[in-house]
Amino acid sequence: MKTVKTVEEVRAQVKEWKISGLTVGLVPTMGFLHEGHKSLITRAAAENDRVVVSDFVNPTQFGEGEDLESYPRDIKRDEALCLEAGASLIFHPEVSEMYFPDACTMVDMRGELTAELCGKTRPIHFRGVCTVVSKLFNIVTPDRAYFGQKDAQQLAVIKRMVRDLNFGVEIVGCPIIREADGLAKSSRNTYLDSQERQAALCLSKAVALGKSMAEGGEKNAEKITAAMTALIKEEPLAKIDYVKAVNAETIKPVTEMSGEVLVAMAVYIGKTRLIDNFIFKA
Ligand code: AMP
Repeated sequence: MKTVKTVEEVRAQVKEWKISGLTVGLVPTMGFLHEGHKSLITRAAAENDRVVVSDFVNPTQFGEGEDLESYPRDIKRDEALCLEAGASLIFHPEVSEMYFPDACTMVDMRGELTAELCGKTRPIHFRGVCTVVSKLFNIVTPDRAYFGQKDAQQLAVIKRMVRDLNFGVEIVGCPIIREADGLAKSSRNTYLDSQERQAALCLSKAVALGKSMAEGGEKNAEKITAAMTALIKEEPLAKIDYVKAVNAETIKPVTEMSGEVLVAMAVYIGKTRLIDNFIFKA
């Protein structure tokens, strides 16, 4: 496994693999890798001959006042995890390698998929995500790309973008990996002090509550999100951005638990914005 910093090096390596008839999986990440990322890489390694992990804190998906500068970075640690998980190549470019200073083109998604949930609070976020993922698809030309259900709206957005723009890439969604006490693994968990780390459990507790209500036959989506909201509100360090039930594919709000429903939340614990969700199939 090696780490490269240029588009040219990735292209040369992938070209060599493709001449030999090998399949290529891509795992896009922002680095500071944990077991969640590792599960994606392991799956990609099981389903493809070669795996490229991109390790890039993408500035275009961060809004004003967000945590672009403070986002944790540790490429040495990431290299060890990638090696262990079976990656073949890490693409770790500088911002200047990914973005021309006079770039004029971005991939923007309008409409319902980005109007709700994180798209509401982070209006330019998905434009940055769609742009960087499109660029990575063009650079790596993978057969398959792996995304976590942890970012469920992102997964829906990427699937729609691939359909709309005819990218010949199969999108594979992977389950949420959690800490032993339930907290969804996230690079942003490192921002939490010990009191906040404890408070952050209100997210996974709300997920467990909502899931058990849905599985117990509760059909009213608003009753479920109201119960989850009430549980989170008991935590003084938590400030809710949203707790919402939407169709998992279209991200349109739903009132009934029918079809495939994504129940998603974003909650600030102190200054740290955390997300979690569950999907219920009726
Ligand atoms: P990030 O580095 O946070 O941009 O995440 C890169 C990829 O890893 C995304 O597809 C995420 O959804 C996925 N991911 C992050 N955390 C988890 C987790 N706890 N379980 C599964 N996938 C995750």
